[in-house]
Amino acid sequence: MIQNDQTIESFLDEQFDQMVEWRRHFHQYPELSFQEEKTPAKIAEILTSYGIDVKTGVGGRGVVGYIKGKKPGKTVALRADFDALAIQDEKEVDYKSKIPGVMHACGHDAHTATLLGVAAYLSERKEELQGNVVLIFQFAEEITPGGAKPMIEDGCLEGVDVIFGTHLWATMPVGEIGYRSGALMAAADRFTITIHGKGGHGASPHETIDSIAVGTSLVQQLQQIVSRRLNPLHPAVLTVATFHAGNAFNVIADSATITGTVRTFQPEVQEKIIEEIEKITKSVCEGANATYSLKYEKGYPALVNHPEETAHLVKSAKKWVEENNIHEMEPVMGGEDFAYYLQNVPGTFFFTGAGNEEVGASYPHHHPKFNIDERAMIIAAKILITATIDYLQHA
Ligand code: MN
Repeated sequence: MIQNDQTIESFLDEQFDQMVEWRRHFHQYPELSFQEEKTPAKIAEILTSYGIDVKTGVGGRGVVGYIKGKKPGKTVALRADFDALAIQDEKEVDYKSKIPGVMHACGHDAHTATLLGVAAYLSERKEELQGNVVLIFQFAEEITPGGAKPMIEDGCLEGVDVIFGTHLWATMPVGEIGYRSGALMAAADRFTITIHGKGGHGASPHETIDSIAVGTSLVQQLQQIVSRRLNPLHPAVLTVATFHAGNAFNVIADSATITGTVRTFQPEVQEKIIEEIEKITKSVCEGANATYSLKYEKGYPALVNHPEETAHLVKSAKKWVEENNIHEMEPVMGGEDFAYYLQNVPGTFFFTGAGNEEVGASYPHHHPKFNIDERAMIIAAKILITATIDYLQHA
């Protein structure tokens, strides 16, 4: 280590109030995905104040900071996302959202403040850095197609050897860390099927093509994909979440629309499910003389952590967190566009516990009362800094 842990500890202790201030500022002025303006401007302003070279408008609305170490070496990228959600803030705190119907209900405000704290530390120590650091502040994580992809296409990973990122996790107590080598988060897709039958009198079914009868049979068949057609050792979810048809009790519905989501961890499984949905929809509808339209939209791919970099991260975490508070997590069925970075460079994404009932951080992500224990930012920052410095030191 170029700095002993004490230096990081005392720097972040001093920096904590500032990080809280940043976080609460972003919290009060949240911006929706693909509409971020003030947030990236503020991030760029803070980075510049630390003498960090900044590129704005990366891939659209992204901000990238570059810290060049004095000694040559590898390049580590760290990523934070900064978009908010279309949710009305229902917390009773003096820093609650000032924007009606928009809220940081996933902790991205804190991800940003954490990475700014990390940036402050690393920029102050750049004379001793044996390599470079790329700070990726990403817009639009919450809505596909997301900000990661355009930022990568715009070159944010150029020259990068490894990437680390974290998500503060309110359903895990503050002080705990979750990691996983391999697939951590699922590919999250959506599908919409509209069945076109032939409406008519409820008393004369023989003169109609009943889209509800076709649709219910289709729903049953779709449920057989995961249970009967996939290898049971390959996890997957297929949920039919909506079914809309009909207007009157005595009229056979002309059409029915079904929507749902598919979650998978392996591309082969995803492709197999798509193929089966197409096959089943075709055969059920054709068998009933109905026509249909099927739209399958792929969301973010599965987030797959690299083993060596995950081991490195766990080693860094152990310098700050008791071993029995560092957990190997089960995969999460939610999606995350950090997945794209990991398709391009090795790295790992981990969870930093941020739950604490005493400070009101006891609600799940995307809940109107969602909050985090802000001390989680310190833990995340310590681990990101240590992972970075140790990687550059030993690369
Ligand atoms: Mn999130």
